[in-house]
Amino acid sequence: MSDRTAIFGAAEADGIVRCDACPVLCRIRPGRAGACHRYANEDGRLIRTDALVLLEQTVAAGGEVIPFVTGIGAGTTYPDYKPAPFIVQSRHAGIDTITVVTEGIFSYCGLKAKIDTDRHLGPEAAPIRHKGEQIGHVTTAEYGSQMLSIGGVRHLTGGSKREGATTCAAMLALAGKQAIEVSIDGGATVILQAGRAPIVNGVPETRMRVGCGSAAIGIFAQQWQGHVDEVIVVDDHITGVLTEHQAGRCLDMRAAGLRVRGRRTTPGRYLQVAHPGSGWGGTDITDPLAIIESIDPKTAWPGLRLLMTSTTGEDAAWFVLDEALRPVAVPMPEEIAATVARIGENCEPALTSILFMAGAGGSLRAGVTDNPILLTRAVQDGRVRITMGGAPCTLWPGGGITIMADVLDMPDGSFGSVPTPALVAPLEFTMTAELYARLGGHMDQVVAMEALLAEYAATARHDALPEGMPWPGAAP
Ligand code: SF4
Repeated sequence: MSDRTAIFGAAEADGIVRCDACPVLCRIRPGRAGACHRYANEDGRLIRTDALVLLEQTVAAGGEVIPFVTGIGAGTTYPDYKPAPFIVQSRHAGIDTITVVTEGIFSYCGLKAKIDTDRHLGPEAAPIRHKGEQIGHVTTAEYGSQMLSIGGVRHLTGGSKREGATTCAAMLALAGKQAIEVSIDGGATVILQAGRAPIVNGVPETRMRVGCGSAAIGIFAQQWQGHVDEVIVVDDHITGVLTEHQAGRCLDMRAAGLRVRGRRTTPGRYLQVAHPGSGWGGTDITDPLAIIESIDPKTAWPGLRLLMTSTTGEDAAWFVLDEALRPVAVPMPEEIAATVARIGENCEPALTSILFMAGAGGSLRAGVTDNPILLTRAVQDGRVRITMGGAPCTLWPGGGITIMADVLDMPDGSFGSVPTPALVAPLEFTMTAELYARLGGHMDQVVAMEALLAEYAATARHDALPEGMPWPGAAP
């Protein structure tokens, strides 16, 4: 590891080094690490304990390897009364480029978890707990996915010390692609891990629904025509009833006279047929016939063939009405089983996705320029590329620099924490050298890429740029 004393600390008596990379200002004895374990005292020198990570791309013609310096292992200068740790000059596509590299310390940060399941994980706004502490809440569900909001400033620093520490540890694990178990008040216990299937109440989820019940009717109506007299697709959102639905009408299907529970929104589309749960289609239904409210004897007929299925095809049953118009479960014909299998085939694998979201519009901008608003505007105008560990970021419109990145795009070991508690995450701003000068950048701190590579030749970690990822070192 490189000697970082000059940038982040000061040598004191008895070989002690004071780290001033964050406001905790640890005084670190020789051979010991600071409170965050990111810095240590090695023979009276302050070192960063994690390697600086370089992302590398091999150019097809000539096999030349181009490096990009990420913020991982770069260190921080919070509250940024000093320039960022590295302000690197390189040349890309014939243009002189500057990348300002730092690790941001974020109290205002959180994780958005997208969990591809219809199963009821908990009521909207219900607290999410980890090791007994609230670390987030259930937020608005999206199409085929349940959404969780985890972390955030209120849990990190606005509650008890234990709540903050637990939240920070949970975020660090999830952002670091590790698994954690959470429990949701009034809902499920879920094991979350980025890029893996969620495990809901001990059962790994496999399929993301093909669509809502109404969408499933629309998709498969033609394949059912001639083989069924009625199809009911059970779904917690919209349960679809084929013959009433526009799709069935267009196929001139005869009305079947089965009325399902819940509130009819438009013909053949029913809301609230049951309570949310982990049964059929994200409802609490385990016996599908429970949602049939009535069968009209004037319309239905003995021998009527009824398919009931969930939106993933995991649950399906075949019934034929007897002489008294009672549905009787009978073995499903092959051609119907094939359509249920087709529903399953059209379901994508259920995954957990974790996006890290943070505000980079604070003091770290002073590490980039002495006039921070110019950086904010340049980022908002798209004149500065902002990346996290080389991974592309989504920038929110409006004020500030509020960004999101998929943790799976980020190199391993991207995140750390400090005892505030707050998360530490890599951040890089890339722009033309000419723009950097105009933004009031710290031109006297610019270091040539070659010099930096030479300094870190023995210690840097070399990661390959993930396939398909845009080159983070290109100025916009
Ligand atoms: S917590 Fe870490 S970054 Fe902050 S002063 Fe201590 S060693 Fe340095």
